[in-house]
Amino acid sequence: MQARMMQQPLIVSSLLAHAARYHGDAEIVSRTVEEPGADDGVAIVDGVHRYTYADAHRRAGRLANALSQMGIGAGDRVATLAWNGYRHFELYYAVSGMGAVTHTLNPRLFPEQIAWIINDAQDRIVFFDISFAGLIEQIAPHCAGVERWVAMTDRRHLPQSALPLHVYEELLAAEPEDFAWPALDENSAAALCYTSGTTGNPKGALYSHRSTLLHAWSACLPDTMNLSGRDAILPVVPMFHVNAWGLPYAAALVGAKLVFPGPALDGKSLHELFEAERVTFTAGVPTVWLSVLQHLQTSGATLSTVRRMIVGGAACPPALMQAFARDYGVAIQHAWGMTELSPLGAINTLKQKQLDLDEDARFAVSVKQGRPPFGIDLKIVGAEGDELARDGRAAGDLLVRGHWVIDRYFGAGDSPLVDGWFPTGDVATLDADGFMQITDRSKDVIKSGGEWISSIELENIAMGHPAVAEAAAIGIRHPKWDERPLIVVVRKPGRDVSRDEVLAQYPGKVAKWCIPDDVVFVDALPHTATGKISKLQLREQLSAYRWPVAA
Ligand code: ADP
Repeated sequence: MQARMMQQPLIVSSLLAHAARYHGDAEIVSRTVEEPGADDGVAIVDGVHRYTYADAHRRAGRLANALSQMGIGAGDRVATLAWNGYRHFELYYAVSGMGAVTHTLNPRLFPEQIAWIINDAQDRIVFFDISFAGLIEQIAPHCAGVERWVAMTDRRHLPQSALPLHVYEELLAAEPEDFAWPALDENSAAALCYTSGTTGNPKGALYSHRSTLLHAWSACLPDTMNLSGRDAILPVVPMFHVNAWGLPYAAALVGAKLVFPGPALDGKSLHELFEAERVTFTAGVPTVWLSVLQHLQTSGATLSTVRRMIVGGAACPPALMQAFARDYGVAIQHAWGMTELSPLGAINTLKQKQLDLDEDARFAVSVKQGRPPFGIDLKIVGAEGDELARDGRAAGDLLVRGHWVIDRYFGAGDSPLVDGWFPTGDVATLDADGFMQITDRSKDVIKSGGEWISSIELENIAMGHPAVAEAAAIGIRHPKWDERPLIVVVRKPGRDVSRDEVLAQYPGKVAKWCIPDDVVFVDALPHTATGKISKLQLREQLSAYRWPVAA
């Protein structure tokens, strides 16, 4: 029997329409890309732009009209190369809302990679922040398919360029703010994001309106990110990295204040914004929180309003969680995800029965990557594809399925799925309560004498030493054991730690055969465009390394 309920499509434009109508005066605050001289004394003061969801909705209407005027239609890809800011937010909603596809480009990639991605996606227009004007000049000659390059600024701040640039503010000024947002098919494409392609060419994940809405809805739940209209959310995670983990959508869904940091992502600038805008919730990769922690420790500053911090994208060192909880009263929540998962796959929130555990036992749960929210299903399998026990001990290849998981890549013919499940390339354990713990990327596992050693575990232990800023474990060829672990360590500024002191961290925490055979000290570790340690580059840098003594 057919139910008698309204059918309203789950579409991105409905989020901003809701925020504008029911949270119209909630603020969106952005540190601008233009120098503080860009102040207009109204919306922009001291390099900080301030307006509301109602303003954003009106300007998104103007932008959608401008896009239509430029001939953009359903399914066309419109790219952005931009920091987290209000114009980028308007693009998210105008492009997807009118039926086109918002394609976020990662400016930290090499110019050739960006050009390759633009061509692969067949982007028709590229919108860019003026800080990327030089980058645009480099890539434009290689992107014949791009019809327009639009500088996200006004005429006054338009950079000199050999390209015929369009000016964002002029496009908006020429159009009316009323736009008839179409009732799109919820299964049509809304946004496109490429994986960073650490091996091989990047691949596009093409999100639907429906998957984006369900992901945002889930993100707000108390056991997920617990977002509400009482929060001020500062996404440090870039809007070009898996849509800032969905926060620009989730914030509109609940009408939370949004605070965008622009290009100023150092510890001091973030801290200033946290305090000035009374931020309650923030999210980013571990390296960002390491730099915020260093700033707090050296300046003696505290956090008066931030209470929750999501750490994901790479394993969060337990020492980082402890420092924020103990010294600053901030609960770090560990989360795991991937571009292919929009990105949320698991997040760490304790269950009622775990609240009474002693501190050590609670902490042992909190360091895991977390459990899947409703809408995501996880399993681990062995080498033969056999499902492994959910006992917190067996480690195997992690597979996932759910409402916001890709079923194939953009443009690619073959489905990557295995019996309807997406293979993540991660190795993990799952416990009886559903908590998942990543032990490694499958390509980073250290294989010693037929056994697997978790590089993440070795890194976390090294980072437990107070003088260690960052650590990476890699497998180095060994004549007898196939590979043995080497731990590469960056010391904190002005701190000293010896090889033996690093190695003394291990006994009692891991089996004897898992302890690294040697320590190498470096000034800095290589990072990828998404802020993770690049093991690929590190292995190249250490290719001349030889074990000191044959063990
Ligand atoms: P890319 O590999 O292109 O940077 P993603 O940003 O989507 O793509 O990265 C996804 C991968 O990041 C995951 O498969 C996993 O290996 C790693 N990752 C994400 N979150 C965590 C976490 N909390 N702990 C450990 N690894 C993580």
